[in-house]
Amino acid sequence: MNHKLTADEALQRLIEGNQCFLRGEPPLSGVPRETLEELARGQHPFATILGCSDSRVSPELIFHAGLGELFVVRVAGNVLSAEAAGSIQYAGEHLQTPLLVVLGHEGCGAIQAALATMFQGVQQRSRIQLLLKSIVPALDGLDAALPPAAQLAQAVEMNVRWTVRTILDSPEGRARQAEGRVKCVGAIYEIETGRVRFLHPAPMGATAAQPSRFDRFFSDRTPSKGPIAERKQK
Ligand SMILES: [Zn+2]
Repeated sequence: MNHKLTADEALQRLIEGNQCFLRGEPPLSGVPRETLEELARGQHPFATILGCSDSRVSPELIFHAGLGELFVVRVAGNVLSAEAAGSIQYAGEHLQTPLLVVLGHEGCGAIQAALATMFQGVQQRSRIQLLLKSIVPALDGLDAALPPAAQLAQAVEMNVRWTVRTILDSPEGRARQAEGRVKCVGAIYEIETGRVRFLHPAPMGATAAQPSRFDRFFSDRTPSKGPIAERKQK
């Protein structure tokens, strides 16, 4: 039912859904039988979300979305593992979701653990360490002199941006850019406020202009500074 949305319309739906969440509107429930019957015939989610497993960052809740609306891939640290990439590719290729959101969040424990590995040499158990190994490359160039909270905020954002870049630079991402119909956007969920802060969109279309009507939702005009520094400026 949502498969006709453009990437911009899908983004608008997420923005409005997050506003519903911020207003404290109850989550969608009581799905009518007709909707279940329609969903049984097939799924047409309007967005793919690569998010963290963190129990506080449920995409359907924070975007006020219902059954069949979001194709969600969740893994600690919203890491782009082979399995996650395969799931994203499936959503793009077979479900034609027009929008992909890489959703990081403030206070991410996986990113925190990656920082501890990088700077204190902390070693986790083997499988966790493998996960952290996937995060560390994204944090290359991180400001080691920042206070811990600001450093974590910067790392969370760097991890999202790195993943978006990796997706756009992949053969699949380049093919989608050539088609010019879909978008990949980074976003950060603010754990205290419930707000999703979208990062500047990366249009998967070589000449696509930035959609100005979304400008007020993007706050990375000063990319050298982390989100905490941005908030202090306001
Ligand atoms: Zn997390």
